[in-house]
Amino acid sequence: MNKPLTGAELDELVAGLKKLSRNLWWCWNQEAQDLFQELSPRGWQNMFHNPVAVLHEVSAQELRVRLQDVQFANRARAVLADFQNYLGDPKTWCHLHAAKLHQNPVAYFSAEFGFHESLPISAGGLGILAGDHAKSASDLGLGFVGVGLFYREGYFQQAIDSNNWQTEYYNAVDPNNVPVEPLLDAEGKRIILSVEIGMSAVSYQVWRVNVGRVPVYLLDTNLPANEQHFRDLTTRVYGGDSTTRIMQEILLGVGGVRLLRALKLAPSTFHMNEGHAAFLSLELIREKMATGKNFTDAQAATKKECLFTTHTPVEAGHDRFTPDLMSYAMQRYLASLSVPFNEIVALGRVKPDDTREPFCMTVLALKLSRAANGVSELHGQISREMWQHLYNVPVAQVPIGHITNGIHLLGWMKGTVRQFWKRKLNDSSNGEAKFFREKFGSDWASAVNHTEFWEKMLNPAFVSDEELWALRYKLRRELIEFSRRRLFLQSHVVTQGDFIRFDSLLNPDALTIGFARRFATYKRAPLIFQQFDNIVKLCRDKQRPVQFIFAGKAHPRDDEGKRFIQQIIHLSKFSDLTGNLIFLENYDIHVARQMVAGCDIWLNNPRRPLEASGTSGMKASCHGCMGFSILDGWWREGYDGTNGFAISGDSHPSNIEEQDRVDSANLYETLTEQVVPMFYNRDANGIPREWLQRMRRSMATLVSQFTTDRMVKEYTNKYYLNT
Ligand SMILES: *Cc1c(COP(=O)(O)O)cnc(C)c1O
Repeated sequence: MNKPLTGAELDELVAGLKKLSRNLWWCWNQEAQDLFQELSPRGWQNMFHNPVAVLHEVSAQELRVRLQDVQFANRARAVLADFQNYLGDPKTWCHLHAAKLHQNPVAYFSAEFGFHESLPISAGGLGILAGDHAKSASDLGLGFVGVGLFYREGYFQQAIDSNNWQTEYYNAVDPNNVPVEPLLDAEGKRIILSVEIGMSAVSYQVWRVNVGRVPVYLLDTNLPANEQHFRDLTTRVYGGDSTTRIMQEILLGVGGVRLLRALKLAPSTFHMNEGHAAFLSLELIREKMATGKNFTDAQAATKKECLFTTHTPVEAGHDRFTPDLMSYAMQRYLASLSVPFNEIVALGRVKPDDTREPFCMTVLALKLSRAANGVSELHGQISREMWQHLYNVPVAQVPIGHITNGIHLLGWMKGTVRQFWKRKLNDSSNGEAKFFREKFGSDWASAVNHTEFWEKMLNPAFVSDEELWALRYKLRRELIEFSRRRLFLQSHVVTQGDFIRFDSLLNPDALTIGFARRFATYKRAPLIFQQFDNIVKLCRDKQRPVQFIFAGKAHPRDDEGKRFIQQIIHLSKFSDLTGNLIFLENYDIHVARQMVAGCDIWLNNPRRPLEASGTSGMKASCHGCMGFSILDGWWREGYDGTNGFAISGDSHPSNIEEQDRVDSANLYETLTEQVVPMFYNRDANGIPREWLQRMRRSMATLVSQFTTDRMVKEYTNKYYLNT
C-alpha cells in the first residue's frame, strides 16, 4: 500500500487525529502517544505531552504532508481503528455484569480529577484516584459520568527560591489547548446553567473531558455574566479561604446535579468521592420536595441514591463550616428549600442540637448515604472508630465498610515497560507466552490486568533474571538522565559556588531509593534523616552506595511541610549527602511516572494510621520497583513478607514522638540488614538473584491486585448494583 492518500482519506485521518487528541484514551495507548510525539518532539516535551497542543503547533499544511508518509499514515490508521474498536466494544465487563447501569449510570462527584500532566487540576492522591477510577470505568464499560470543577489556573506549580523555600506560581489552563471540549446544546450553543450562591444566581458553563468511553464534566464559573468574585470561584484547586471553599462545594454539589438533569440523566447512584461533594444531597432533597414529598421522606429517598467514600483520618481533611458561613453562602439557595435553617445545619452535626458544633461535610455525607466506605481495610476500621459517636453502636456495627484503592495500570506503566511486556508476549519462541497469545490474541490491554499474566513473573522460562535485571538498569538510567536534565533546569542547584556537573550526577549502578508525594507532615518526609550519620555512611560506601531522590509539593499554607522541603534540599546541597541526595522540583504525574519506574525502592513512612491507602507504591510494582513501607494503608494488605520490605510491625505506639523514634530506627535497621545487602549480593555475572526473586514475588502478588480495574469491579458489585 504505497499509493499516496487521496484528499478524502487525508481529511478522514486529520479528523480522526483531532478527535483522538480530545479523548484521554491516548493516556493509556503507547502507539497513540508515539504518533503525537513524532509530530512535534519538542512540542510534546515542552507542553506536558499534550496532543491538543501538538496539533495546534503543527500547521494544517504540515499535518497533511506528514500524513503523506505512507508508513506514518498506516500507523495513524491502525491507532484510530483501535480507538474506534475500543469505543464500540459491545462485550465489556459491564455488558455482562452491570448492564442496567447503562440506563441509569453512576454519577461520580469529585472536587479534583488527576488524569494527566497536561490537565493539572488535581492536588494529589485523591484526584489521581478519581482520574484512575474514571479510566477503569471506561475500560470496564461502566455506565458512568464524572462531575468535577474546571480550575482555570489548576493546582500550583512549584519553584524553590534561593532560601530553598517553596514558592508557588500558576499557569493558566487554556481550555482550547487542553483535552477538553465545551458542552454544547443541539444547536451548537454553549450550555449555561445557574446555581444560587450567597445572594446571587451564579452562571456556569461546562467542559467535557472524554475519558475513553465515559464523560467527565467540569463546571466553570468564569463567565462575563458573573460578578468578578464569582468568576474567580473556579480559579484554583482548594484555593482561597473557607468562603471560597464552601462556594466551590455548592457549585460542585448543587450545580453538578443540575447539570445531570439538564443532560436528562437519572443516575442510579450519586457517588461522593470525599465530603466536598456532599451538598449534592441537599439538591436531591430539594428536587424531591419540589414534587411534593415532605422533608423526612425526601431525606429517606435521597439516602437510597447516595454512596460516600471517605479518604482520610486526618482532621483537617474534613471540611467544617460555621453556621454563620453556611447561612451567608447558602441564603438564597436555602430559601428555595422551605426547611428551617436549623434543620439543615443539623444534618451536618453529630449532635443536631449543639449550636456550637460546626457543620461538617463528612457528617452530612454519612447521614445521607445508603452506604459508606474507607479506602483500605485498616482505614475502614479507623473510620468506624472515628465516627462511632455519630451512630452510638459498637464500633464493629458502624456502617462504614472498605474498598482498597488501586491504580489504572496501563495509564501508569512507563512506555519502556509496556514495550518490554508486549515484546515478550509476541515472542513466538517463548512457549510460556503462548497461553496468552491464544487467550487474548493481540488484546494486550486485557492480558495485562490478569492475575495469570503477573503470576508468570515467577517463572524464569517466561522472563529470565538477566532480562529483568537489564530492564531495571534501563529504567534506572532513564530516571537518572531525566533527573540530570531536570536538575540542570532547576536554578537553585547552581547557586552554590561549587559547580555540580549535571551529566555525572547520581550513579546508575547504585541502589536508588525514591520518596515522592505531597509533603503533608504526617507523611514524615525527613524521617530517614533522623539517622543522619548512619545514612551518610550508607551513601558513602564505595562498594555498596545508596542514593535518594525526593520530590513533592507542600500545601501553599503549610509552612511545616515547606520546612521539610527546605531541610531536604539543604541536605542535598550542603551536607555529606551532596551527590547522593537530590530533590526534584514540581512533582506531578509525569515526575511520578519517571520515579516509580526508575527507583529500586519506593520509600513510604507515614505516621500510622494516617495514610488511608496511599497509591504511589502501587504504581511502582509493575516496573520492578519494590515497596519499603510502614504497614499502613494498602501495604498492610499487600505485604506478605516476601514481596518487598516493611518498616516496623502491625501495631504502633500511640505517642507520636515514640512512633517517630521506633520507625526511624527500624527503617535504618531494615535498610542496612536487608535491603542493601540483598541488592548488592551478586553472582559471578553480577546478577542479584535473591533481589530479583523478591521482585518477581512483588510483581506476581501485587500488580493485578491493586488496580482500579479490581477496585471499580468491587464498587460495582458491592455498591453500585445494590440500590
Ligand atoms: C500517585 C500520586 C499521588 C499519591 O501518592 P501517595 O503515595 O498516595 O501519597 C500524589 N501525587 C501524584 C502526582 C501522584 O502521581
